[in-house]
Amino acid sequence: MTGMIFDVKELGVHDGPGLRTTVFLKGCPLRCMWCHNPEGLTMSKQLSVRENACTHCGACRKPCTHADCRPFGRCLHICPQGLIKVVGEEVTARELADRLLRNKMFWGEKGGVTFSGGEPLLQAEFVHEVLDLLGDVHCAIETSGYADPDTFLSLVKRMSLVYMDLKLADDGLHRKYTGVSNAPILKNLEQLLASGIPCVIRTPLIPGITDTPSNLAAIKELAGGLVQELLPNNAMAGAKYELLGLKFPLSSASSPDTK
Ligand code: SF4
Ligand code: SF4
Repeated sequence: MTGMIFDVKELGVHDGPGLRTTVFLKGCPLRCMWCHNPEGLTMSKQLSVRENACTHCGACRKPCTHADCRPFGRCLHICPQGLIKVVGEEVTARELADRLLRNKMFWGEKGGVTFSGGEPLLQAEFVHEVLDLLGDVHCAIETSGYADPDTFLSLVKRMSLVYMDLKLADDGLHRKYTGVSNAPILKNLEQLLASGIPCVIRTPLIPGITDTPSNLAAIKELAGGLVQELLPNNAMAGAKYELLGLKFPLSSASSPDTK
């Protein structure tokens, strides 16, 4: 089967132990206002244009005959400055596994593959198929934990390490800032705690939203002794939105809650 990805980052050191190759899957059911991967939100391909360097020559807006340009209404191949690209690539499980395995010699004993996104659980069937082809490689997943319990458990059980986000303990605030209830996430956290699968709980520190003392204390309690990581806020998160013609939600959000 095919999956939709938006990047493959080779030989990184931040997405798990050792040297790793990280694949970013497209599509996420959440809409966190601080999300720094807006190209991972939708499952569809998107146009990315560096508008700040555009001279408005109009060449890309003239009709062209390329089939791949048609869905976007702009020519992808004519910009003299190369300002236009498509974000999103449809790949078969075999193609992706082969691409990942080209890095195998660099992974050593500790390293391997990390599935990130977006939300990898949204393409769980595809990830299962890639895992079948990777064999005994050390695999990790970075997930919001938002999925039905069976989908969640069947996929995380195949991972050597799970990075799971707990962003907001309060369901009302979770709905407000991510667009969804945290109930399925907490249910899956229970499964994870019971499973004994190696796991790290991550919380992005968003000023006035997730970094409040009451939220951090509640998350610590929910994490039940699991290893916790607090991730610094990415102050540059808004920059990618412009490329995609989107507005950074946090820049227009109402005042954060200060509890
Ligand atoms: S071709 Fe390039 S420079 Fe010209 S309008 Fe299109 S994006 Fe801008
Ligand atoms: S769960 Fe992650 S990818 Fe999805 S919207 Fe939130 S920060 Fe972005």
